[in-house]
Amino acid sequence: MKVLIVDDSPDALALAKARLGKEGLELVCAEGGKAGLAAARRERPDLILLDVDMPDMSGFEVCQALKADIELCMIPIIFLSGSGGAEDKVKGLNIGAVDYVTKPFDAFELRARVNAALRTKHMQDLLIEYAKIDPLTGLANRRGLMERLAEEWARLQRHGGKLSFIMSDVDHFKRINDTHGHTFGDRALQAVAGAIAAQCRQSDLPARYGGEEFAIVVPGAQADAAAMLAERCRLAVEAVQLDAGSDTVAVTVSFGVADADNADSPETLIRHADEALYRAKNAGRNRVEISSEDANALTSGKATP
Ligand code: GH3
Ligand code: MG
Ligand code: MG
Repeated sequence: MKVLIVDDSPDALALAKARLGKEGLELVCAEGGKAGLAAARRERPDLILLDVDMPDMSGFEVCQALKADIELCMIPIIFLSGSGGAEDKVKGLNIGAVDYVTKPFDAFELRARVNAALRTKHMQDLLIEYAKIDPLTGLANRRGLMERLAEEWARLQRHGGKLSFIMSDVDHFKRINDTHGHTFGDRALQAVAGAIAAQCRQSDLPARYGGEEFAIVVPGAQADAAAMLAERCRLAVEAVQLDAGSDTVAVTVSFGVADADNADSPETLIRHADEALYRAKNAGRNRVEISSEDANALTSGKATP
């Protein structure tokens, strides 16, 4: 794990570094408060050791700036201070630090406090990861999906590029549940998830949108390329034979595809994919449809040489 040490004194930095050097940690140093804040933004450390008394920006100010930043507020902070006064300790903990070590620190105590803070950080990271995973299928859940879509949308606004979105829904799934039971239905969802995920690239994000609905975020693709991915998924699901004891059961999925080119927000993109999915259902299910906006744009694009 990565630890950022922020102190205005090069000697103090060298000392802290030497004390923690044998812990198998990646250590990054920043000289002064402003440099510390910049390093936190750049390095995204797992823990920050923060000196209180620094001339350009005090440790308390750095801490407050970190806690006010949505991207950095989860990084635990341990204050290092020459002052052992209760007032400073209380202030440091009240503005969001997890611990406070008084200089000159005992090497064993510093290491133990650093390790304790890192253990908690590790648990926090795991919980944040778990909160984005659907336990049944192991795919990203709705939270993970929406987060990723927002990131890709922001990337698109900044740097341009391509982005598509696929929405899908298992066909007549209620019938599968009703005929073979809910446990069998769960297995069917796992098989569908596996078949869809196997068709995706590393950069795609397949996710369980809800119930028997799956979605895929497809960066770098326009609707026609995403429709090809959806078609591969459709075929892969169709090929799955679910063992139901005496016989095997087939399951099919309908897909709707939409292109960010013709959407003004992630919500519109999802709505367009939903509209296409609705048409795929009405046209008989087990098929892929491109949203009408995108289909029109594709044909008009093809008409102009
Ligand atoms: P359509 O082709 O129009 O999509 O028909 P459908 O039967 O798939 O659609 P409907 O919305 O009527 O039924 C969806 C069913 O999916 C109902 C619900 O009980 C079931 N379902 C949702 N989540 C789960 C789950 O986690 N496990 C199981 N086994 N079933 C689920
Ligand atoms: Mg449904
Ligand atoms: Mg369905």
